[in-house]
Amino acid sequence: MSTAFKTVLLFGPPGSGKGTQGVAIGTLPGFFHCSSGDVFRSLDPESELGKVFKQYSTRGELVPDDVTIDICTDFLNKQVDAGKFNPANDVLLLDGLPRNVAQAQALDGKIDVVKVVYLEASDTEALVQRLKKRALDSGRADDADENVIRNRMQVYTDETAPVLAHYPDNVIAKIDALPTPAEVMRTILDALIPAIG
Ligand code: ADP
Repeated sequence: MSTAFKTVLLFGPPGSGKGTQGVAIGTLPGFFHCSSGDVFRSLDPESELGKVFKQYSTRGELVPDDVTIDICTDFLNKQVDAGKFNPANDVLLLDGLPRNVAQAQALDGKIDVVKVVYLEASDTEALVQRLKKRALDSGRADDADENVIRNRMQVYTDETAPVLAHYPDNVIAKIDALPTPAEVMRTILDALIPAIG
């Protein structure tokens, strides 16, 4: 990456709807959605990196930072080369990355964060129930086991939540994650439109 990508971070606990919103808003012209979890899940499970991902994700733990940053930056550069992501026109909607302060520091200079969409949920139980329900449709192993879900929530509280302090208060938009997807989307777009110009 030579110039920093103009970026909106989708931020919030597992189950807060980052992926749902990212996919939906990513269909609009002028946005490119990238989910670190999706990048990992697209790896060949038999490959070395695919095995590393499985080892960590099935325990609800974060994949090591160097691997994460390399895989995700490589993915983004390939999307640019393939003409799918045009950084001159598109805002990058980054979902699931950075997930700790070290990753945020590693991405400084690579991304220009114009907004952090913080999907907030006071009711953690509602999120656990959302993830258990999602497991039935998605078949994701890390959603099927309640202990793994609870560990991901704990990792979010311990490692990911402190990332918010890495960005200035005036770029953070706190948005209630519990209304319907359409309502949440409207609130996100209201916050984003003035920020992306
Ligand atoms: P969720 O937000 O519901 O936990 P994700 O699809 O974002 O789901 O992530 C699934 C798993 O992928 C995580 O538990 C973790 O193992 C791995 N992962 C995703 N993003 C990162 C990241 N930025 N750093 C380290 N590991 C990650």
